[in-house]
Amino acid sequence: MIRLTEVEKTYENGTHALKGVSFRVDDGEFVFLVGPSGSGKSTILKLLTAEEAPTAGQVAVNGYNVNTIRPQQVPFLRRSLGVVFQDFRLIDKKTVYENMSFAMRAIGASAREVRKRIPYVLDLVGLGEKGGQFPGQLSGGEQQRVAIARALVNNPNMIIADEPTGNLDPSRSYEIMRLLERINELGTTILVVTHEKELVNRFSKRVLTIENGRIISDRQGGFYGYEKK
Ligand code: ADP
Repeated sequence: MIRLTEVEKTYENGTHALKGVSFRVDDGEFVFLVGPSGSGKSTILKLLTAEEAPTAGQVAVNGYNVNTIRPQQVPFLRRSLGVVFQDFRLIDKKTVYENMSFAMRAIGASAREVRKRIPYVLDLVGLGEKGGQFPGQLSGGEQQRVAIARALVNNPNMIIADEPTGNLDPSRSYEIMRLLERINELGTTILVVTHEKELVNRFSKRVLTIENGRIISDRQGGFYGYEKK
């Protein structure tokens, strides 16, 4: 669950990036966060992962209050989120399987848990046969599927995807969104930051639009950039 209440963010250089942002994302939702470059999308993501603190207002994520979170609790907050980036961020010298086991072992999973979980998650993203490959041997779309699998491997409550299709062609982009949709149907909350209007409009989802540090619309069913009549 995400809850932002009257959030303001002013960076040290005086940039007023968020100007009274309030919204809530309940468990199980699929939400697109859209808006032009510089509108405040990354700032919101940094608040959700507690990389930044709000200047005013409240930020709550999966039961953690970002305003008052203690440094020792931040890894637990981050563990409740799986983050997927535009540039995949896989470790090139590790195989697909090793990329995933590394993420699991980092939080203390046992060898047995690793052996059980990874094949399940790789099958889920359609890469059941690719565990032994290195990222460089995979297409961009496949690499993003690995990144999604890695985000899922520790069973987060929510996936945050930051321009996940920015490096992919339109048909691969569509497949990645379909995959996120399927993961959502299995119960994981999904927040996708994107500026790909046509792609957003192919899915009938809730769309939050931010412009110049303010949420200017929050509606179900796409239509980013248009008034729905
Ligand atoms: P978006 O992700 O929508 O492109 P950002 O959240 O990155 O937007 O940026 C919102 C505003 O905050 C922009 O004016 C940007 O220049 C500014 N900004 C972002 N990060 C910083 C920072 N670390 N220091 C100062 N200004 C920043």
